[in-house]
Amino acid sequence: MTIPTPGRTSGSVSGPASAPTAGRPSSPVSGPASVVELRDVVKSYAGGVHALRGVSLTVRAGELLAIVGPSGSGKSTMLNVIGTLDAPTAGTVRVAGYDVGSLSDAQLSALRARHIGFVFQHFHLAAGRDAVDNVADGLLYAGVPRKERRAHARAALERVRLGHRLGHLPAELSGGEKQRVAIARALVGEPDLLLADEPTGALDMASGEVVMALLHELNAAGTTICVITHDNEIADLLPRRVRFRDGEIVSDSLTQEAGSR
Ligand code: ADP
Repeated sequence: MTIPTPGRTSGSVSGPASAPTAGRPSSPVSGPASVVELRDVVKSYAGGVHALRGVSLTVRAGELLAIVGPSGSGKSTMLNVIGTLDAPTAGTVRVAGYDVGSLSDAQLSALRARHIGFVFQHFHLAAGRDAVDNVADGLLYAGVPRKERRAHARAALERVRLGHRLGHLPAELSGGEKQRVAIARALVGEPDLLLADEPTGALDMASGEVVMALLHELNAAGTTICVITHDNEIADLLPRRVRFRDGEIVSDSLTQEAGSR
């Protein structure tokens, strides 16, 4: 089942589409478009900490990859930079075709709302809201009217096989079900990129396997997914692994036919 595309051009959020400096990239000569393009990205903190030391990475539409490395290797910094939550000290970041460095804060919010879905280790669901409302909230800033938000939310919950839990509160759901609600919320706006930060980190093994199988299935249906993890076993399940150490990519390996490449 596919989720109908919400009206991304309606609503009052002034987004990157209206930014004169934020044009779409021209069509690539071959292969799918890049969803993420990092060039020589450096992120430094006061005191001489270099969280990223000149990272270049291209993620193409349809890929499913892991950003994997030990604690302190720079994964969270990568998540924040790719997710446009943090600006690099140097280098360029393009997400969904937009040059992130040229966008205002409002435009960055709109870029996130329309083009990036986030999934977190601890779900981040609103406790007092049922599954449908939690997922519908994923469209709050995308300029979709309330009634349509709820219809899209129900469809997204069906897609993660939670059609029988629509009215349940987070406290009435298992960990695995909560993460599937969070994935539905991330996907409801049909983002160009799903960023999943340790998505199985708070789950038992069986629930974790269900969540990983779901991510594979969503990727097979076309969603570009980047999983951030410290866990080599999780990473090894994915077709592409980008390994980090001390703020640098130390390997970038592909197995199988990665995504649609
Ligand atoms: P990981 O997610 O792989 O554990 P991080 O991206 O969180 O790694 O951190 C990479 C490095 O940057 C670490 O040395 C960390 O201590 C440092 N770091 C991260 N955030 C900050 C910050 N806000 N201020 C100073 N140093 C930071």
